[in-house]
Amino acid sequence: MRRNDLIRRLTAALLLGASGAGIAQMALAQSVSYESGREVYDGVKALPSERVEVAGADIEVHFADPAKPHHDAVVAWIRRSAAALIAYFGRFPVARLDILVVSTDGDGVRGGTTFGFAGSAIRIHVGRDTGAKSFNEDWILVHEMVHAALPNVPRRSLWVQEGQAVYVEPIARVQAGLLDPSEVWRWALVGMPKGEPAEGDLGLDGTHTWGRTYWGGAGFWMLADLRIRERTHNQIGLQTALRAINHESGGNTAEWSVEQLMARGDAATGGHDLTQLYTAMRDHPTSLDLATLFEQLGVSMKAGQVVFDDRAPLAEVRRAITTPAPGS
Ligand SMILES: [Zn+2]
Repeated sequence: MRRNDLIRRLTAALLLGASGAGIAQMALAQSVSYESGREVYDGVKALPSERVEVAGADIEVHFADPAKPHHDAVVAWIRRSAAALIAYFGRFPVARLDILVVSTDGDGVRGGTTFGFAGSAIRIHVGRDTGAKSFNEDWILVHEMVHAALPNVPRRSLWVQEGQAVYVEPIARVQAGLLDPSEVWRWALVGMPKGEPAEGDLGLDGTHTWGRTYWGGAGFWMLADLRIRERTHNQIGLQTALRAINHESGGNTAEWSVEQLMARGDAATGGHDLTQLYTAMRDHPTSLDLATLFEQLGVSMKAGQVVFDDRAPLAEVRRAITTPAPGS
């Protein structure tokens, strides 16, 4: 926290007639950065909370700073983001989630981190001047909530978790009616090439660059989705596997091995796609042959617009991925 920012806010508080005690509390609150997980959990315990009930689950919202973004807009944004998770997982994926909203300058959601070692908690930075447009377009909170839905795995396989969040987030928003399906494919067309192995890269467990971790991971989950749908004649997809993993683990307070996670997903879909793909891509750099995949799915970009080809062999699969699934 920059010092002049604190002084500005204290001045604002004086102008608004805040009490001396309020100012002291504000100064205290500002001295905590909430950088570490421990600070986040301490903050969650100490700060007042507001309960937002979603589909039988409790989201406890805590504002870290007295000078905060618009309260009602924050609550509406949290509800909307939760709706995406409910659409994808068939329920809100954890029984209780603490969200610590840390204020920043300006307009926009700035970044989030999800913790699981002492309950599911998300720290998210939100600009005090964030407007409706930024809240409506935000993907970060949904991304973090996907992390809360799935078990933690060993650090070397961070790509498993980041890939899940990158792949699932826009699909969940489409299924909840919050995003157009073309946006899922826009991000896939633009993003997936960033995850392809570069010269000298190892398998996904051995190369920890940003591209391989986020988009290489997302490519793994997209390919897994396509394999499950191919084998089951498009009756079920990755969503069935991830719902089962969420149900059994209870979310990110669980510590699982990747083998356990893949096996649970395979059991739910009656195959071995996840385990086979994981074994292949973990240790060896594997190109997805994206040009062929996107052609089969019938998606391309022309003059900055996503164009669908409904005669493509996997056009039905493409549609099924973003179609709302029945509740669990
Ligand atoms: Zn993430």
